Amino acid sequence: MNPTNKGRTGGYNCVVCIKQVPDTSKVTGKAMKDDGTINRAALPAIFNPEDMNALEAALKVKETCGGTVTVVTMGLPAACAILRTALMCGADKAYLLTDRKAAGSDTLATSYILSQAVKKFNPDLVFCGRQAIDGDTAQVGPQIAEKLDFAAITYLENIEMDGDYAIATRDIGTGVETDRVKLPALFTVTDKFGELRPMDVKRVMKYKKAKAPVENGGVALEGDLAIGQLSCDDIGCEADRCGFAGSPTNVNKIVSVVLAGGDFKEVTPDDEGVNGLVAELVADHTIG
Ligand SMILES: Cc1cc2nc3c(=O)[nH]c(=O)nc-3n(C[C@H](O)[C@H](O)[C@H](O)COP(=O)(O)OP(=O)(O)OC[C@H]3O[C@@H](n4cnc5c(N)ncnc54)[C@H](O)[C@@H]3O)c2cc1C
Repeated sequence: MNPTNKGRTGGYNCVVCIKQVPDTSKVTGKAMKDDGTINRAALPAIFNPEDMNALEAALKVKETCGGTVTVVTMGLPAACAILRTALMCGADKAYLLTDRKAAGSDTLATSYILSQAVKKFNPDLVFCGRQAIDGDTAQVGPQIAEKLDFAAITYLENIEMDGDYAIATRDIGTGVETDRVKLPALFTVTDKFGELRPMDVKRVMKYKKAKAPVENGGVALEGDLAIGQLSCDDIGCEADRCGFAGSPTNVNKIVSVVLAGGDFKEVTPDDEGVNGLVAELVADHTIG
């Protein structure tokens, strides 16, 4: 089911938040440093998988209803690689949000900084992946929505447009729910939406030269090839809400859990098995 425009001239201004992540499917013994943090150098950096689904959702809205797709990532200059990929697939504009002040941001600070950037683009629709495969919290999308006072629709599977409303179909585990939501709104997208379309050959040739100033000796390229670069100051962030200063999360301890065969216990899929499991979990204070 594709989106169908019902009476809105000019289409929709879509913003997609995309993140470059270490490929956690390629974890080896060197993936963790001695202090328990991720050894990013030991893992290839990839486009977060569900952010590709989020980009596809925005591109479908644009394809059917018109408008623009802007992608933004907060990260190191190397994250420009995923911005170029997004441009090659059909995004119109790309922005790198890079700033030392953002280093060490937890989800609260990340969502604050991204919300400030998103606000600058004055979007009708914002798309995020459901979750990033490194942090894995799935908090950033809904937190951006909360800060912007946008409706948040999670687990998006399909979207149609109806004037100033989106008709969103979302996965609720046991089936689907359809919501009619007033714009502006934010959507978190899963792989059920469908794969990101292949890169367009002409766009690959063109956008392989696209650069952010930080990749080009500090000089911005002209026109389509310019990847925009933003700092926390550019988007009006309050310093004490960014980076470590704005991050109340305290990582107490990181434990690398390796399950061996003996750690598994099989439970029979009947009332007796489930009741026994629940009683065990209550007894050892895992739940209850
Ligand atoms: C105390 C603490 C310190 C940390 N310090 C660092 C650090 O120094 N360096 C570091 O790299 N990480 C750091 N992190 C991890 C970082 O906070 C998270 O990776 C980040 O907040 C995003 O959370 P998540 O990965 O769980 O995203 P999720 O909530 O799972 O992501 C959901 C969606 O939000 C969007 N999104 C998330 N992050 C971004 C982004 N950066 N740009 C664009 N879109 C995004 C994407 O659409 C994504 O699919 C730290 C975390 C904690 C708790």
